[in-house]
Amino acid sequence: MANIHLVMAAVVVVLLVSLSSTSTSASASAISTKQQKQSLRFSEKGEFRILQVADMHYADGKTTPCKDVLPQQFEGCSDLNTTAFLRRIIAAVKPHLIVFTGDNIFGLDAKDAVYSLNAAFSPAVSSDIPWAAVLGNHDQESTLSRAGVMKHIVGMKHTLSQFNPPEVDNIDGFGNYNLEVRGVEGSAFENKSVALFNIFCALGRGKLKDLAQYFVLRAYKNKPEAQEAPAPGLAYFHIPLPDFASFDSSNFTGVKQQGIGSASVNSGFFTTMAEAGDVKAVFVGHDHINDFCGELAGIHLCYGGGFGYHAYGKAGWDRRARVVAASLEKTENGGWGGVKSIKTRKHLDNQLLTAVDAQVLWSH
Ligand SMILES: [Zn+2]
Repeated sequence: MANIHLVMAAVVVVLLVSLSSTSTSASASAISTKQQKQSLRFSEKGEFRILQVADMHYADGKTTPCKDVLPQQFEGCSDLNTTAFLRRIIAAVKPHLIVFTGDNIFGLDAKDAVYSLNAAFSPAVSSDIPWAAVLGNHDQESTLSRAGVMKHIVGMKHTLSQFNPPEVDNIDGFGNYNLEVRGVEGSAFENKSVALFNIFCALGRGKLKDLAQYFVLRAYKNKPEAQEAPAPGLAYFHIPLPDFASFDSSNFTGVKQQGIGSASVNSGFFTTMAEAGDVKAVFVGHDHINDFCGELAGIHLCYGGGFGYHAYGKAGWDRRARVVAASLEKTENGGWGGVKSIKTRKHLDNQLLTAVDAQVLWSH
């Protein structure tokens, strides 16, 4: 039932064309004021890396066994293997943002949701790296409601997760927000958002399109300095859109080993993004043993691939995580311009954290 959408859009600009109502403008500026307090920024090397962690399915820790691992891996395997993988991948990738795309905990097996959430996110919290999360369809099956889970997450250390935009009262679900990434400190883009992340989480299907329009079609003319052209954006959420079923192995990179677990009703969210034009890639979880990326109408639709050891998987098929790396353009005078390219790859949880399936999602 949950349609969770986390969108990351990037950069600045755009104008939303004809959203003329003043209340919409007021909402957009309220959001941008909040965003300015955030500190996401391209590095001095003009890079911004995002680590996606899909479907940890964390429960009680050491006593919660692994699922679908090889017989020789089973003994002693628990949620702590998920924690160990998260620590290693954070240390190896050194992301600037970690995004958890839902089913962070597996509520049915979690005795205490607060304990499980704290344990599941602890490697992110202790890394001091900003992180964001949305809910999946299993996060609320323990001792907290969906609202309760999201409230708890929002109160955790170093998170940029938000409950919902305070000025919008008709959003279904919890955990809908945008995050912006600004240019390199000291550059001409210092105060411009180079990337803007919209995180959508919605329970109801009917309002999904409205929600998409609210986030995607919003003005990027943010203060203090607006840009004049749109920039590429990214969207992160839990459940794949029906449009993920548009691919076969001839036109995607990665694997499809199970059906697309999307909602049966097409909310029009994809069409909304395609028409707006700024969102270049969408990242989801939910189907743990799919990890492909395929391009449809200029938008890459990507799975993260299952991360957690208590989540169902496929024995012998390594747990994995997806990394997105955005790079800025170098200007003639040696400064930094807008986003030049967005690439992705996955890392497997083997000894070498082997990188696979590198591909370019967008380039300028
Ligand atoms: Zn899951």
